[in-house]
Amino acid sequence: MRTGILGAGQLGQMLALAGYPLGQRFVFLDTSGNPSADIGTTLIDPDREQLSAFLEQVDQVTYEFEHLPVELVREIEKHKPVYPGSRALEVCQNRSLEKQLFTQLDIPTPEYRLVESAQELAAAVAELGEAKGRPVVAKSVTEGYDGKGQAVLKQASQAETAWQEIGHPCLIVEAFVDFVREVSIIAVRGQEGEVVFYPMAENHHVDGILRYSLAPLPDLDANTQKQAETYIRSLLQELDYVGVLTLELFQKADGQLLANEMAPRVHNSGHWTQEGAITCQFENHLRAVAGLPLGSTEVVKPTCMLNLIGQLPATRKILAKKAAHLHLYGKEERAGRKLGHINLQAETTESLVRGVEELAQELPSAPKPYFSFVSDKQCL
Ligand code: AMP
Repeated sequence: MRTGILGAGQLGQMLALAGYPLGQRFVFLDTSGNPSADIGTTLIDPDREQLSAFLEQVDQVTYEFEHLPVELVREIEKHKPVYPGSRALEVCQNRSLEKQLFTQLDIPTPEYRLVESAQELAAAVAELGEAKGRPVVAKSVTEGYDGKGQAVLKQASQAETAWQEIGHPCLIVEAFVDFVREVSIIAVRGQEGEVVFYPMAENHHVDGILRYSLAPLPDLDANTQKQAETYIRSLLQELDYVGVLTLELFQKADGQLLANEMAPRVHNSGHWTQEGAITCQFENHLRAVAGLPLGSTEVVKPTCMLNLIGQLPATRKILAKKAAHLHLYGKEERAGRKLGHINLQAETTESLVRGVEELAQELPSAPKPYFSFVSDKQCL
């Protein structure tokens, strides 16, 4: 069984690492000219000359990042099965289509407007923000990721500068959500329509980049998990989706969930499943794509994923720690770059949080971890 993967970064590499024990083999098609995955066969093809060679070598195709030309995926669909399909990709690339789909499926989102000029942006800031005493977040409708192409505005007078800085012809302007935490739910749908869900994770971003993800959540009531499952299930069904889908949500103080965005792929907030769940997100994605039965998503132990950004700690130091699993991506150090992660485990969430606080102090320039379910007093 040969699976073709569009994109050749760390997510592709971790997919392949999970697929080898199942007897699967991988061919990557890299259109960036700068692949980091170093496993299987990689075709480096910035000029798109090797598509036929790629297709000849694979039984089915998936992707590990969503900023791919949709027409390339549609072309591939004419020759080989692609999971998830091009409609999912198209929706996830465009914040406007994504919000429309959420609304169509009764999935609550932050209030939003679409704007196409600095004047329209100023009007949206006044209406959604100033009039209600809160900021707004303006985001480019396409091409944004990890907080790029975004600005927080408090006043309409900031619109001109923000419009110039983002430099995109169409923006989505969202009411700033006063959330207590950011969470995500990851689900997997197989080819027969069967669905499994991982327990939700709490995610901490700094400057738009994920730093910590912890699961399962000790204070999550069953209804909130069920609510998130209902939302993601309706997305999976509507898109006739096969594979892993991630839905990022804001949770408000009253428990309400608001959908932020979704990703049609394995996700950084699901890396904890590598050691934290019976079947990790990477293996389950490949099982779905290959038409195999899905694996159990049951939690093995409380787990926290700590991202290694920009600079790496000494490998020896991390490996000397009990219950720390190091995953390095083989990339050169560079500011803001995701170079690897550590999955730390413990028998209880309490001891896990203590362990994360200690470990974070040894990671170069890691922000202080914070978890919504730990009171300040407990932190001290
Ligand atoms: P995004 O690229 O949409 O995931 O945004 C990156 C990060 O910006 C999110 O993880 C949040 O921390 C923050 N953010 C985005 N949209 C909002 C919003 N409407 N209200 C509050 N914070 C937001």
